[in-house]
Amino acid sequence: MSSYPEILEDLITSLSYLPGIGRRSAERIALYILEADLDKVKKLSELILGVREKIKPCSVCHNFSTEELCSICRNPSRDKSLVCIVEYPKDVLALEKTGTFKGVYYVLLGSISPIEGRGPESIDLSRLINRINKGEVKEIIIATDSDAEGEATAVFLRDVLSKFNIRLSRIGIGLPLGSQIEYTDSATLSKALQERKPLL
Ligand SMILES: [Zn+2]
Repeated sequence: MSSYPEILEDLITSLSYLPGIGRRSAERIALYILEADLDKVKKLSELILGVREKIKPCSVCHNFSTEELCSICRNPSRDKSLVCIVEYPKDVLALEKTGTFKGVYYVLLGSISPIEGRGPESIDLSRLINRINKGEVKEIIIATDSDAEGEATAVFLRDVLSKFNIRLSRIGIGLPLGSQIEYTDSATLSKALQERKPLL
């Protein structure tokens, strides 16, 4: 039986649900919160609620956004005819860190995984296909991870997108098999983008 007051015990339990946080870390964070400057704690709790309430998928590319369009889609200097397809917003962040990509993105918010039973219905291409049908897209770079799910997703994307009259390529040269975009360093990603392989 814990000797902590119930509310503190509840906080520790809630924190332990966070990814990568076990009971011991949760306890350490809870005790830190208990003793930290009150303004800092208030700010933290406001931010936790704020990100849930204010961040929504961009209506064009599904990237994180606090407005209808994300900052990349709103930027007039980005090339809207060049679209890079990624699995998650964290992949956009990794590619943006390279500073070399001047196009825009399409975030799938998922991937296909035959092993886990996730088929094509788990990704939504409708907004991308709308953009293609409007003639806005000339080239698409598939930048899904080079693990099993990313490769299965890339094969599906190639099958669907090869029906359109656009240049199609796959990032990946120089990326080790099984690697994930979000954990790949900027120099390797930058090279992988430049040396993309055309898909027929
Ligand atoms: Zn966007």
